[in-house]
Amino acid sequence: MSATLTSLNPSTGEPVGEVPVTPSDRIAEVVARARAAQIEWGALTAAQRAEVLAPAGEKLVARADELGELLTREMGKPLREGIGEVRGCGASLAATAKEVADALAPETLEDDHTFSTVHHDPFGVCAVITPWNFPLAMPHWMVVPALIAGNTVVLKPSEETPLIAQAYADVLSEVLPANVLQIVHGADDQGKALVAADVDMIAFTGSRATGQAILGSAAAGLKRVILELGGKDPLVVLDDADIEKAAKFAVMNSFRNAGQVCVSTERIFVDESIASQFEDRMVEMLETMPVGDGMDEASRVGPMINATQRDHVLRQIDDAVASGARVVAGGKDHHDNFIHPTILGDLNDDMGIMRDETFGPVACVARFKDVDEAVARANDTPYGLGAVVFGGDEDRALSVARRLDAGMIGVNKGCGGASGSPWVGAKQSGYGYHGSKAGHRQFAQARVLSRAK
Ligand code: NAD
Repeated sequence: MSATLTSLNPSTGEPVGEVPVTPSDRIAEVVARARAAQIEWGALTAAQRAEVLAPAGEKLVARADELGELLTREMGKPLREGIGEVRGCGASLAATAKEVADALAPETLEDDHTFSTVHHDPFGVCAVITPWNFPLAMPHWMVVPALIAGNTVVLKPSEETPLIAQAYADVLSEVLPANVLQIVHGADDQGKALVAADVDMIAFTGSRATGQAILGSAAAGLKRVILELGGKDPLVVLDDADIEKAAKFAVMNSFRNAGQVCVSTERIFVDESIASQFEDRMVEMLETMPVGDGMDEASRVGPMINATQRDHVLRQIDDAVASGARVVAGGKDHHDNFIHPTILGDLNDDMGIMRDETFGPVACVARFKDVDEAVARANDTPYGLGAVVFGGDEDRALSVARRLDAGMIGVNKGCGGASGSPWVGAKQSGYGYHGSKAGHRQFAQARVLSRAK
């Protein structure tokens, strides 16, 4: 990789800006600075660290329009979503920091013989490695708990979106002591070098393949690892579902962020008795999803992040059609990095598009005859991030949901839980997790101090 990394606008192909690449052999120095800075940072209480960091939230909110535009130009999503991502992270920062600090407060326990205090201490230096699809939120959701737990952080953002990550780190660094949060730029070489460096913990969000590589590399030092990985989320639509609501959800959750969301709906299993009606409503609703440059106010679906991702999605569509899938809507007029939202029907579960993560604006509708079949097919994947069930009889839908092998399952709604819930993948979609009291504690070393009664 050359000495600078040029960030390209996926809508226009034009450069948005550039950052210096961190030479891999300089990463050890960055980590050494992080280790030195950790001594004072780790000596504060979690509540004190939360107080230091909190004002960064207001700074992000104050710059939400400007940073949201940068995010959209660099990543492609519609501007209102780019601004919303910055504003949402900024507005919740202080509360999240306090929530983490509360989760890490010492706990006391006793039995007949012993008094104990459980402390949640820093590990030391935490590497945070992130993807491009939510290029500010993904760093944010790992950097904040890592910092509040008393670790110093070295962030390695995606090579596709270095500018918005740098801007985010700069805002936080306005309130943090020197070297508490540092950033290294580059691609997989820099990621590998960071994992191999003298870090104590690696918090990663990205693809399953990269997660496997990181876990393998971290094994040598038994470094703590949290992995949030890809998905192949099913949507199960039962025969008594509200078709209007289910179709609306299917369209929104298949095409939002051009399908480049880890909990996008990637497979739809719909009861055959309502499948045609359901497909028809989805087709009508596609009109609400115009494709275009995220800077154009009318756009709801932006481009693929790059040509590699575009080619992967188009290949999956072409292979499925060649194997007998029916194009229900879309499937043409793709240009540059833009893929027109496409609905496919008559899918079978052996097709690549039903097995491998797509991460593009494609809705795959398969039909089932009975609920046992739907559950078995929904679970027939190594992934287990999110899942959703739509059904009129809520108790029945909930009992189907309990049989789905995923970390987060929604009934008549998306898979995300109430605030305070973990963000968690089952099976090969996750290894450890974050969010929630238990998730925050994964950024800290538990230490039990006991004395006799
Ligand atoms: P990716 O795995 O290709 O890259 C993620 C990051 O890892 C980048 O910063 C990259 O430079 C770095 N990297 C690549 N190889 C590395 C290595 N060997 N060692 C260390 N670092 C390395 O993923 P992506 O294409 O950027 O993002 C898309 C993926 O992220 C999808 O699979 C998506 O489902 C997943 N994702 C998951 C969640 C979740 O919460 N579970 C959220 C967002 C995205």
